[in-house]
Amino acid sequence: MENCIFCKIIKGEIPCYKVYENDMVLAFLDINPVNEGHVLVIPKKHHRDIFEIEEEYLCEVVKTAKKISLKMREYGIDGVNIFQANTEAGEQTVFHYHMHVIPRKKDDGINFSREMLRHLKKMDPDQFESMRKALEI
Ligand SMILES: [Zn+2]
Repeated sequence: MENCIFCKIIKGEIPCYKVYENDMVLAFLDINPVNEGHVLVIPKKHHRDIFEIEEEYLCEVVKTAKKISLKMREYGIDGVNIFQANTEAGEQTVFHYHMHVIPRKKDDGINFSREMLRHLKKMDPDQFESMRKALEI
């Protein structure tokens, strides 16, 4: 897609620090890392977000995130966070599907859980049941 920074990276028009590539996906270092070694995994075909991505590409992205995680563990990390954002409301900033693989060390000062806990909502049983019904597949 024109003017998509990730499509330009795939075409080689913009350089990247590539760590893995196959026919369907590309994985490279995030130029704005949350931690050293922060990797982005993207499908080589433009898909905007989770709502649009074809399942075969999604599966390949997830499988690649696992490969990257295993490699990070070999490198000596203590843990990993997998993060993925969709639409502006979901804080997506580059509108080409991508999955963050963020290596973690004990006491690295990052605390995603604490940040999420700041936003907990109170729900009564009726609200839970109503939401369960709405989301049941
Ligand atoms: Zn794109």
